[in-house]
Parts: sequence; structure tokens; C-alpha cells
Amino acid sequence: MAKKYCYLFTEGNAKMRELLGGKGANLAEMTNIGLPVPQGFTISTEACTQYYEDGRKINDDIQKEIMTYIDKMEKICGKKFGDKENPLLVSVRSGARASMPGMMDTILNLGLNEDVVNTIATKSGNPRWAWDCYRRFIQMFSDVVMEVGKKYFEKLIDKMKEEKGVEFDVDLTADDLKALAHQFKAEYKNQLGKEFPNDPKEQLFEAIKAVFRSWDNPRANIYRMDHDIPYSWGTAVNVQMMAFGNMGDDCGTGVAFTRNPATGEKGLMGEFLMNAQGEDVVAGVRTPMPISKMAEVLPDVYKQFLQVCNTLENHYRDMQDMEFTIEQGKLYMLQTRNGKRTAAAAIKIACDLIDEKMISEQEALMQIDAKSLDMLLHPQFDPKALKAADKSNVVGKGIAASPGAAAGSIVFTAEDAVIEGKKGNKVVLVRLETSPEDIEGMKYAQGILTVRGGQTSHAAVVARGMGTCCVSGCGDIKMDEENKRFTLGGKVYKEGDALSLDGSTGNIYDIMISTVPADPNSGYFGRIMSLADKYKALGVRTNADTPNDAKQAAAFGAQGIGLCRTEHMFFEPTRIGAFREMICSDTVEEREAALAKIEPMQQADFEGLMEALEGQPVTIRFLDPPLHEFVPTDEADIAALAKTQGKTVAQIKQLISDLHEFNPMMGHRGCRLTVTYPEIAVMQTKAVIKAAIAVQKRHPKWKVVPEIMIPLTGEVKEMAFVKKTVVNTADEVIKASGVNLKYEVGTMIEIPRAALTADEIAKEAEFFCFGTNDLTQMTFGFSRDDAGKFLPSYYANKIYEFDPFAKLDTVGVGKLMETAVKLGKGERKTLHCGICGEHGGDPSSIEFCHAIGLDYVSCSPYRVPIARLAAAQANIKNPRK
Ligand code: ADP
Ligand code: MG
Ligand code: MG
Repeated sequence: MAKKYCYLFTEGNAKMRELLGGKGANLAEMTNIGLPVPQGFTISTEACTQYYEDGRKINDDIQKEIMTYIDKMEKICGKKFGDKENPLLVSVRSGARASMPGMMDTILNLGLNEDVVNTIATKSGNPRWAWDCYRRFIQMFSDVVMEVGKKYFEKLIDKMKEEKGVEFDVDLTADDLKALAHQFKAEYKNQLGKEFPNDPKEQLFEAIKAVFRSWDNPRANIYRMDHDIPYSWGTAVNVQMMAFGNMGDDCGTGVAFTRNPATGEKGLMGEFLMNAQGEDVVAGVRTPMPISKMAEVLPDVYKQFLQVCNTLENHYRDMQDMEFTIEQGKLYMLQTRNGKRTAAAAIKIACDLIDEKMISEQEALMQIDAKSLDMLLHPQFDPKALKAADKSNVVGKGIAASPGAAAGSIVFTAEDAVIEGKKGNKVVLVRLETSPEDIEGMKYAQGILTVRGGQTSHAAVVARGMGTCCVSGCGDIKMDEENKRFTLGGKVYKEGDALSLDGSTGNIYDIMISTVPADPNSGYFGRIMSLADKYKALGVRTNADTPNDAKQAAAFGAQGIGLCRTEHMFFEPTRIGAFREMICSDTVEEREAALAKIEPMQQADFEGLMEALEGQPVTIRFLDPPLHEFVPTDEADIAALAKTQGKTVAQIKQLISDLHEFNPMMGHRGCRLTVTYPEIAVMQTKAVIKAAIAVQKRHPKWKVVPEIMIPLTGEVKEMAFVKKTVVNTADEVIKASGVNLKYEVGTMIEIPRAALTADEIAKEAEFFCFGTNDLTQMTFGFSRDDAGKFLPSYYANKIYEFDPFAKLDTVGVGKLMETAVKLGKGERKTLHCGICGEHGGDPSSIEFCHAIGLDYVSCSPYRVPIARLAAAQANIKNPRK
């Protein structure tokens, strides 16, 4: 039997989201539970994949099947597609497996042409509605299908409004809209050199193709990379009978959440626009009214809507985000999904749903997007500074659309935000309203301020998704985008002027307000984190080089240090001199003398780290980078070094040039330094062991067991050689101290050869830690620092879908890790394994680390809470025996 590509809403259900996409699966589910849904069918994601396989064509079989389903739809709806008297008008809507709001395209009122419009205008006695539908259809079809920019049509609308002296599109009459429709068609012909298509069937297939195509548009591609959505999934297409919210004052359209997506507060929240079609609410054409107002204007429908909301939340057992339309007093549900929310809302909703006995603790943890916790750790306004600013610097107020604190200088375009953001400058992006093309700029902005649009405007939705502060709909702003300036409260603001936004109150300030770090351990956050600890199997450590970082990480719940990079300690001005002396020494004695100056400083650093972690494990990695990174480059420093070394400038320069390597990342670094200069490892060992002894003495209750980690091992004999130096030194220091101190010596696994011979290496190493930055680099054979130049072409050509330095390549690098864990633990039962590359804080990589049996992950302090939750989620999905 031929493969089935189309499914009536009555044939699907919520579990079929892989095939039907989220939107289609939920339209089917709502149909099944008896909610009022305009009927239609879904063309599956497999049809999308097939479309791309067939060279961006919808093949004949699929075309035929689609037309069969149009027939079925006609019977269900009692209308005929393309018919003049009783036409079936449809929307063609994209809908991927994971929701990608605003990323892909939708077309409404499809099936119209001049004949049909004329007939329904007369028959309905509502020509305004008929022509409004037609002009919208031409506009959307042109924009989405033919990629004629929206702006041409918007200009025509603005011109028409000006001519008629009206402010809003609803004030335009049937004749105005008819004139507009004709102007639009002329513009279409002008832009494309051909007539606007009249044949509904042609319109339909063009629209379906456009939706398939939109899966591959740049904004969808960026969104997918940011959200880990594979390209291979494809999008489904929903063909659905139109419900008309634009027939008059007993009509309207809106969006609503069952709980507040910004704060998590229980209770219906949303917006509603009378006499309008769906996209008007999000596009900010008019400022919508709060949903509660619906109780006054359409009380019966409002009551029914409340019931539907309840039904949906109880059914999905999660906060719902819904779209609906009211056609002449009758409610239609057009979409429901588990609502996107801020991290603050996510943790509150999860806790509330547990307390309401709707979901289990595990389900609650699974509901929260681990990555989003990052938002909770972002700085907040310093309460004192905010109080002062509240008195004298509030210059306006908009809608509190996405919480957070933003302070920066004003930019007016997304491009400027990108440019300034890349320079590390803090900017606030001020726009009339945002659109999907602004996404990249929004990412770089500290905050977003818009003149139009409400809680559910594009700016608000996207900002909440990114965890960026947003104040929307500040109508008091007089915007002059062209000249990059605006007026607010009688004052003119230009590019570069200071502005602060409070995303929780909507307040706008004309100064930079200082910020302070957030508190991670109280309230809902604290509760979720302790639940995460209850369910996780992986340990979570931190990468910390300074006692301050270590303290911060411990406050965020780190259970130890998985990586301390000792070289960072050498760059301090007081130390770099001694280190350079060491590098420039001619003899072992000279080197030892220089190192002796550094040893007490290193010891003090290590003591600080061990104190901060209060007896939990601390892994210290020995010197790793090539020595040339430490030598001076400017003439004055070189001269100074020559002086202290009693050498000539020429001699020092010679020495520096001798350190030059063709490929330093694969050169004289890591444990290779110890093989040539064992004195360095001797000094570092002494510093670690002395620090541990001192801390153990000060805190008899702690059990201090320092872990010494050898970088860049590739061969067991190399490991044995270095280990011998460490052990001899350590044992001597311990013996002299009279304290009974245990310590471990292990290695980084970051060279493929080490992973492949891990059973051998484990004979010497007491622990492994995967340095996945180097391991990825060496496995792919390209460097992290250079890959940025060519990876974009790899993404564009779908060769790689993500940056392997951000998300672990489980196929290749992962295979090496899995092999190493198996071989290593097979050789030494007590071997413990961790990861300390960037991937240690990435949720999908953490899931993999859990699955291959690592003992812990280690990540930067601010990702520790993310890692704790991701570790719990990994263990709930795939419990460890
Ligand atoms: P998005 O994913 O961008 O929200 P949608 O497919 O949900 O795109 O559609 C855009 C807007 O059009 C939404 O407000 C939606 O409710 C509205 N819409 C879609 N289909 C219909 C329909 N059949 N009748 C009325 N409005 C619709
Ligand atoms: Mg859309
Ligand atoms: Mg939608």
C-alpha cells in the first residue's frame, strides 16, 4: 500500500506529533476531546521530507492524496473549495514537531478570487468582511509565497488610512478595502510581472510548498540551532477551514495562557481583539484588550472559553497557550500547546502543579527547560539604585512583557544591536515593533523596548524565549526610526543614549541602573534544585580557577571542582615575572629558583579553592599551554626581562623565537612540558600537597583528597613517567609533614589515542576527565578558534547541524568517550570518570554523559544549576540501575 501522507483531524491525536507536528497533533487531540475546532487535515512531516527528497517538488501521488482530503474536508464542512456560492476558505498553517513560534509561515483566507469575493460580499450582506479577507489573503500570499516584501502592502494601507483620515484598519470601509485589494493586485503584478493567481488549487499548492520551504528559511535555521531541533524533522502542514473573526463586532480573535507565562501566576491571561484576524494580535496592528474584557463584551462566549481552558489544562496537565477565534458569537479553538514561559514562571508552575496534585515530582522536573535556568542567574537591578531611579528617572512605562533588568545604550536596528553587541557593548534595542528578521539583534540586546504590541507580540514572545528583558507597547513613544531618534516625556533620545528597562514592572528609565547577581537558593528555585539533586545520578562539579569562582559555584550547588586550570594563575602581574624567569633559565637550578618564587603563591591559590569547596573533591590540572603564551611581546617587557635575567635583548628575542611552533596546539604543551621540564610538575605537586595538608589541619572534619590531573596524555608510558615525578614529590612532602594525606593522580582524556588505549592508561591513572574541547578538536581535525570561519558553510550545506564545540558530537567524539569509559573501568574498578569541556554544562551533552556512565560533569559556575537539572532529567528518562 502506498504511504499515507494526509490525516484528517479526526484521525490523529496528541501522541502523533512526530508525524503531524505539534499544531496538527493538538488540533486532532482537541477534536477528539470534543472541543470546537474548525475541521481540516494535516499533511505529515514525512511529506515535507519527501518534498525535499524530490528536489523541492510535491510529487503526483502526494498531490492526488491532498486533493482527496480536500474532498473529504468539503463533505465534513459542507462547503466547496473554489465554489462561488458556498466556498470553502482555508488556512494553510505550518507546524513542526517542536513549536517554533513565528518562525514559519501561515496563509489565511485561501481559496478567494475576484468572482468568489463578489459573490460572498453580496450573499453575506457583509462586503466589508469579504474584501477584508481578500486583501489580507493577497497580502499574505504575496509575502509568504512569492516573497514580495510586506512593506509594499503596509505602505499602501498606511496611505489609504491617511487619505481616509482614519487611524486603524477597522475604520476602513468595504469600498476602501476593495480599492486596497485592487492596489495590492497591481503591486503584485508590478513586483512579479504576472497576475495574482485566481485558481484556488494553484493557490493551495503554492501555499503548501511555501510552508515546506519555510522549514529551510534563515530564521527557522537560526531558531533550530538555538533550540537543538534537527533539520531532518521537517514541518507538517495543516489545511483548516477558516473561522472568521473579522465579520463584525460579535467577532474577534485572541490568544490566552492558562497561567502567566512571565511569572507563572495561576489564572487566565491573554489578549483579545474585536473584529480581527489571528495575525493582527501578534503583529501589533492595534493594541488588544485584556482577555478579561471579553467577559463584558461577549459574556456567554467568555464563560465557554473559561471552561475550554480548564479542560485543556487538566487534559495536558501543563500550562496551555491557546489561540481562538469568535465568529458571530461562536467560539473556535485554533491551537493549543504547552506554553513557553520564562524560567521564573517555569519553576513556579512546576511547583504549583505538584502541589495541585496534577503531576509528579519527576514530571515537574521534566517540564522545565534546563537551559532556561540561566535566566534566573542573570543580574537584577541593585535594589538601592532602583529605588533612587524610581524617584527621579522613570520616563515612561510600557507592558512588562519579559522580566529582567536591562541597562545599555540605545540602538534602533537589529543590525546595530549585532554590531555593538559583538563589540561587547550593552545595548537596548528600541523598535516600533519587532519582526522575525530582528532575532539576531534581539539576542545581542540587554533589553528590548517596543512602541506597539502587547504581552503576546512578537517582541514579547521571543524575548521571553531568550530570557531577555522586554518592555512592549509603550505607546507614548513618538518614534522617528529613519533619523534614529524618539521622543518620550518631552525628551529626545538618540542612538547611544542611556536607557534602563525593568521587565517586571514595565518601567523605562533614562539612566543606566547598576545591577547585582541573583540569589539562587531560595523559593521555587531552591525547591526545584533540591528535587533535581534527589533524582540525579551524575555528580555536578565546576570548572573554577579562582577562589571567587569556586565560592560562587559552591553557592550554586557544585559538588567539587572538576577542573582548575593552573596556568591562569601565572598571568597575574606579580607572578608573570617569575614565570618568565623560569622560561628563560638556562639550567635546572635557575629554573628551580624561579619556580620556588611561584610555589607559595600557587599553594595559597589551592588552599583558597579547597576552602571554598569545604572538603569536596578538587581536581587540579597541571600546566597545559605551550610556554610561548607566557613570554612578553612588547619591547619594554622584553627589555625588563633581559635585565632581570642578565641577558641581552637579542638573547631574549632569540629565546622567544625558539619557542615559536608551527602548530602550538599540537606542540610542546600538556604533559610534554613535564617530560622535558619535570621541575614544573615538582613545584605544582608541592603546592597542591602542601595546600591540602594545611587545609586538612585547619578543618579536621573534612576529608581532603586532592586530585592531580595530568593534561594531554596519549601513551601509558608517558603517564607513568609523569606520575612517578608527582608521586615521588608528593610522598616526600607528606612524609615530612607527618600527616596522613591521600591523593589521586589521574589524567585528562583529550587525545584520541588516549581514549583508544584507555585500558592501558587506566593502569596508571586513578581517574579520567574528558577534555572535550581538545578531544573534539583532535577528533574532527579542526581547531575551535578557526572553525568559526568555515562552519557556517557547513551549516548552510547541512553537513553539520550544530557546533560540535557547543554540543557534544555523540557519534564520533562520543564513541571515543564511551570506549574509554568501558576500557578504563574494565581495567580499574575504582576509576572515576568526568567531563570538563564546555559540553559539561550543555543539557543534551549531559544526557549522553549520563548514558555512557560518567560519574560527574564539570562546568562553569553559572551553568551548575543547569547541569543539576539536566542530570536529573537524564536519570528520569533513562534511570541508572
Ligand atoms: P503561528 O505558528 O505563527 O502562530 P498559525 O498557523 O498559528 O501561525 O496562524 C497564524 C494566525 O492565524 C494565528 O493567530 C491563528 O490563530 C490564525 N489562524 C490560523 N488558521 C486559522 C483559521 N482556520 N481560522 C482563523 N484563524 C486562523
Ligand atoms: Mg506563522
Ligand atoms: Mg499559532
